[in-house]
Amino acid sequence: MSPVPSESAPRFEKVLIANRGEIALRVQRATREMGLRTVMICSEADRDAPYRQAGDEFVCIGPASPRQSYLNQAAVLLAARATGAGAIHPGYGFLSENAAFAEAVERAGLIFIGPPASAIRTMGDKIAAKRAMIEAGVPCVPGPDAALPEDLASIAAIAEGIGYPVIIKAAGGGGGRGMRVVHDPSALGDAVSVTREEARRAFGRPDLYIEKFLAHPRHIEFQVLCDEHDNAVWLGHRDCSMQRRHQKVVEEAPAPAIPADIVAAVGERCANACRKIGYRGAGTFEFLYEDGAFYFIEMNTRLQVEHPVTEMTSGIDIVREQLRVAQGLPLTISQADVRTYGHSFECRINAEDPFTFAASPGTITAAQFPGGPGVRVDTHVTTGYRVSPHYDSLIAKLIVHAPTREEAIRRMRVALADTAIDGIATNLPLHRELFAEPAFCAGQTDIHYLETWLGERK
Ligand code: ADP
Repeated sequence: MSPVPSESAPRFEKVLIANRGEIALRVQRATREMGLRTVMICSEADRDAPYRQAGDEFVCIGPASPRQSYLNQAAVLLAARATGAGAIHPGYGFLSENAAFAEAVERAGLIFIGPPASAIRTMGDKIAAKRAMIEAGVPCVPGPDAALPEDLASIAAIAEGIGYPVIIKAAGGGGGRGMRVVHDPSALGDAVSVTREEARRAFGRPDLYIEKFLAHPRHIEFQVLCDEHDNAVWLGHRDCSMQRRHQKVVEEAPAPAIPADIVAAVGERCANACRKIGYRGAGTFEFLYEDGAFYFIEMNTRLQVEHPVTEMTSGIDIVREQLRVAQGLPLTISQADVRTYGHSFECRINAEDPFTFAASPGTITAAQFPGGPGVRVDTHVTTGYRVSPHYDSLIAKLIVHAPTREEAIRRMRVALADTAIDGIATNLPLHRELFAEPAFCAGQTDIHYLETWLGERK
């Protein structure tokens, strides 16, 4: 255990935020509140974005293409060195789960605000992650904790052993890509070769694994926080079952109607697994939940898009804890202090057609956001903001909190009605329809609900 540094002699006083958009602003606010100085980076496409001016300094690090800017490790490190930043917060996406980058940051004598590179590497390999979780006593989806062999006959035998339907997944996959469901043996060969090719191209490694495809699970995840002093806590759970193409659209906390004793048992196992692997900072254990049982699918070793719903229900500022942990300070809370208050929802507002999902970059001619008790808006856009075609389409997150789930639903309906974004298409109409849907409003819908509903709506 390392000694606890004193708050008056911080390890760093200036943080470089290696990201863009709403999460760059979210991290910047936490950093400023703590009295730290901030450096924002931007690409040429984001040079005029108003949000980056609120920091102390900003550095334009390259052209619009992410590869030449937000993913360019050398450019990010150079910006940190040039501005004298002592730490780098990677946000989510981009370099946040890149173990080599975390190592390069530490090698440069700076602090990476995230877990040790070894934990990122283990959890970034979904096969290694599954193995580590089985060892830590965390229940996993049925299927081998090993890469698929090359020959189809052996793969077919494994699939037969698990029982169809099965899902073929890339060990290095992410963002809902590199996965294929196989319903019968005749489709197995094609699914394996197509996914292997996709894995090689998109993730730079061809390893695949196979597991049971669960028919009607919910996606339930656990937020954890750990420090360098052997403290690990879980902050409650979230339901992220509202997905399209394995991508989350609406999230809520807590997940409705899961017995508290089962939740606590899994939460404890997650916290224990963190101690076992020497985890540090914020992280999320993702599970599928079906017929009263939890099955681990993966761990995300970073801050997540949906972290605000847990902040609303726990009262804990997760980014502030990340910054404190990186300073070497202990968590401000122990497990006994963690409570869940009321209910929270988050709607991801994307610049896309609400029903065809085609991206809709362009200039926002008017932006109006809601307010009032229990309403939080995390966004970097304002009237006149130009949504670039180069980056993901998330432009705002509407978050509500209320004493009960029913009140939170009513609050979200009003918040959605009070939001207007003109000039580009957004998925606001989709959210408004969803929050009027009886089955969704009743809760406990599974991961297939949204796509089935969209299909029937046509
Ligand atoms: P990614 O890293 O791309 O987000 P995940 O492993 O987290 O991939 O899976 C994303 C989503 O895909 C899950 O939330 C779930 O909807 C679906 N999924 C993944 N594995 C299974 C499975 N074994 N059975 C059913 N659905 C699955």
